[in-house]
Amino acid sequence: MIDTYDVAIIGAGVSGLYAAYKMREQGFTVRGFDAAAGIGGTWYWNRYPGARFDSESYSYQYSFSQAIVNEWQWSEKFAGQPEIERYLNFVADRLDLRREFELGSRVETLRYDEASQMWEIVTAAGRRAMARYVVAATGFLSAPQPPDYEGEGDFKGLTAHSARWPREGIDVRGKRVGVIGSGPTAVQIVQSVAPDAGHLTLFQRTANWCTPLRNTQLTAAEQQELAAQASDIVALCKRTFAGFIHDMDPRMSTEVTDKAERLAKYQELYERGGFALWFANYSDMFTNRDFANEVSEFLAEKIRNRVNDPATAEKLIPKNHPFGTKRPPGEKNYYEIFNRDNIELVDLRATPVTRITPTGVETTAGSHELDILIYATGFQSLTGALLRMDIRGENGVTLQEKWSDGPRTHLGVQIAGFPNFFVTSGPHHPAVFCNATRCAETVIEWIADCLVHMRNNGRTVIQSTPGAEEHWTEYCYNSVKGLIIEDMRDSWFFGNNNPDNKAEKRFLLWAGSVPDFNLTYADVAAQGYRGFEIR
Ligand code: NAP
Repeated sequence: MIDTYDVAIIGAGVSGLYAAYKMREQGFTVRGFDAAAGIGGTWYWNRYPGARFDSESYSYQYSFSQAIVNEWQWSEKFAGQPEIERYLNFVADRLDLRREFELGSRVETLRYDEASQMWEIVTAAGRRAMARYVVAATGFLSAPQPPDYEGEGDFKGLTAHSARWPREGIDVRGKRVGVIGSGPTAVQIVQSVAPDAGHLTLFQRTANWCTPLRNTQLTAAEQQELAAQASDIVALCKRTFAGFIHDMDPRMSTEVTDKAERLAKYQELYERGGFALWFANYSDMFTNRDFANEVSEFLAEKIRNRVNDPATAEKLIPKNHPFGTKRPPGEKNYYEIFNRDNIELVDLRATPVTRITPTGVETTAGSHELDILIYATGFQSLTGALLRMDIRGENGVTLQEKWSDGPRTHLGVQIAGFPNFFVTSGPHHPAVFCNATRCAETVIEWIADCLVHMRNNGRTVIQSTPGAEEHWTEYCYNSVKGLIIEDMRDSWFFGNNNPDNKAEKRFLLWAGSVPDFNLTYADVAAQGYRGFEIR
């Protein structure tokens, strides 16, 4: 007899854990699968040196369980990966969720059986199970994407993608280390590794606008205060544009005519840290190019002041996009790292990589001999985790076929032709701006309510109508129009790293505010799941 469940959950990360808890609480039988050997999803895999939150710890934690809120205290304003992994394991144990998951179990195939209206799940090890519903809690940045340089695989030293960092760690002491990439991950790695490495070479294709994170250890008094404010913090995050504690200044930059006053504000936000310069700035941050350019110039001056060598400083100042068009990496002493004599910055636009060799990286300017090569090259964002599985909906149509011209969804949560299949954090989600846990809780609660609604009404099948899907997909594409983000298509928001992105780079997310996102979901449910066919 094949094991049969109400809900199969793929992924034991932030979304998957909560999905398992929520569905079980609603009386559904649940089975979770995760390829990783442990709980944590993103926070299991991304164990590279320096990995930590870019959301303030108390704004990222779960809010659904008062017991969890009461029993956990964060030691840092922006907790590091080991503490976050401990937190998610604590949640799994405290809520007895571990027994719902099969770890080390990679789902390879998902096939919808129209006769039984059930999904068949097959793992890499050949384990088979059936479930009425599938919740793909597979994450939007979980399918690592190394570059396809010639000679890939020839390197004889140690190599790792940042999101597949070995559990035992990598000893960089005294070694010649190369890092390819200069996004938020690379910034965290570089500032952590540089002091210990013998020599560090950063291969940068595009400079990014980094802003200070301003992490601090929390004192016992601060922990107490933050724990007491936990529900207020979540309530605040429900109101703010991006689900963070930072709230936009209601004024437009154009209303503040005194430049000195605007600069003083940028300075105050720069001091505040986290995403303050982005999410607590004037409210035309996402639409006004002149204003974005002014903030960029403010940051460029900071870089010039912090980096001793003017030529290096210029390389570190982005030239092809203004501040605010990509998620800014949070840094500590990133720019000062380039004043060390054991670091070299290679500009890959001036001298592209020609091949990976057994002993390092060769560019058009020569060879860089390395002991360790780190790929901080990002992900097949948003679509990768789903497209790397073999998912077959009605009439055996594969997701690859369905999305051959780009992803199509309704609300980011369902795909026409794939009944009873839900996605928690894939394309058309507001992840451009969203604090991940805040948005995950909304989506999972919406799915759970939907399943309860169906059960109460004796229904067993739900899927998006093609019309609603068409409408939502267009709505997502259009949501970026007029925003400065549209100017920078070389980011994971547009799937710049995605091999499936054959056509013109399309916007893969929904560029709305978190309150709008919450309202939209609530509204669709209140209207009897508008745009979904329930039978
Ligand atoms: P990313 O932002 O996509 O950056 C990837 C980097 O690799 C970019 O610098 C990219 O250059 C470079 N790259 C890609 N392919 C390359 C190639 N073939 N040759 C040379 N360079 C190449 O990925 P990420 O840094 O892992 O961050 C992804 C997202 O994860 C972030 O936006 C953030 O949302 C999240 N994140 C959060 C935290 C946190 O603090 N909680 C930490 C890390 C990441 P181009 O820009 O030229 O493409």
